[in-house]
Amino acid sequence: MRILGIETSCDETAAAVIEANPHDKTVKLVTNVIASSLPMHAKTGGIIPETAARAQIQYILPVIKQALKESILTHNDIDTIAITYGPGLIGSLLVGVETAKTLSYIWKKPLVPVNHLIGHIYANFIDSKLNADIEFPALALIVSGGHTDLVLLKDHGKIKWLGGTRDDAAGEAFDKIGRLLNLSYPGGPAIEKAAELGNPKVFNFPRPLIGSDDFDFSFSGLKTAVFREVKTIKKLNNEIIADLSASIQQAIIDVLIKKTLKASEKYNIKSLLLSGGVAANQKIKEEFALKIEKLKLKISLSVPPKNLCTDNGAMIAAAAFFNYKEISWKKLTANPELYFD
Ligand code: AMP
Ligand code: MG
Repeated sequence: MRILGIETSCDETAAAVIEANPHDKTVKLVTNVIASSLPMHAKTGGIIPETAARAQIQYILPVIKQALKESILTHNDIDTIAITYGPGLIGSLLVGVETAKTLSYIWKKPLVPVNHLIGHIYANFIDSKLNADIEFPALALIVSGGHTDLVLLKDHGKIKWLGGTRDDAAGEAFDKIGRLLNLSYPGGPAIEKAAELGNPKVFNFPRPLIGSDDFDFSFSGLKTAVFREVKTIKKLNNEIIADLSASIQQAIIDVLIKKTLKASEKYNIKSLLLSGGVAANQKIKEEFALKIEKLKLKISLSVPPKNLCTDNGAMIAAAAFFNYKEISWKKLTANPELYFD
């Protein structure tokens, strides 16, 4: 079946077509179109919801048209429309949800609402060779600009939230700290780049909640610690920025790995699925793989390619395929506060 996935929860306007096979449960990516208002937000050093929503209105129809054009399909070839209905920015979500509802009505196609966070997890089920090998129970670590969550998947649709951030998300910490270091927005990729030439042992930043016996995270203390450290430095030259970046990145990685592997052990998981924008970080992937190898854990690690880590429509379409629950367009409303059940 062919699913058109639409995603507009934040600053990306995305539409993708996937070809899903109900027999062998594989998902092939046909086309993946993403327009981002990120350059506008780089100017303001962060996302202004009103600006993001206006950009969504501007991009939504061209992006959907482009996705159909690139896949050499018309709407007649689409079986289902999948749409992110939360969580996210209300203005941005509304644009996608109302568009998907309208298309469902005029094209007479089923509509499947998708939780954006569950969507991130399903980026791991697209085109991957591992796809068929992802065994349950699986553990998902969602690390994005707005979320840091550990979620146990006993099967498709059988999801248990284990813990999440009590304050800033991992990506948010990267972004806020990036601003403190005068790096470009978003801070995550900028810190990763600066860290390449740095030494992670120069600054000993706190690893908040690393030893706590829950699966929660907290990154706002790290931001405060960096703020204090930066105030003591007379001139932030490139060398110091590199060492600061490497040390900050290492602190975040250490916490993510420790907590995730603790949950892996407790729930005896077979697959570990990383997802969200922060999972685009090469060092995070490498350190997870190294640790799993070093500890000789029997866990298969899956990380989506970079363009499927950040927000996209393909992950929404894939999540809809594996968790297929239609809803009438008349009943769907955007829910910015949506979380896990
Ligand atoms: P998302 O919320 O999933 O769209 O992802 C955006 C977030 O991912 C932002 O907070 C970025 O700073 C972060 N991010 C993107 N690329 C990287 C990277 N290479 N390293 C760390 N964080 C990243
Ligand atoms: Mg996201």
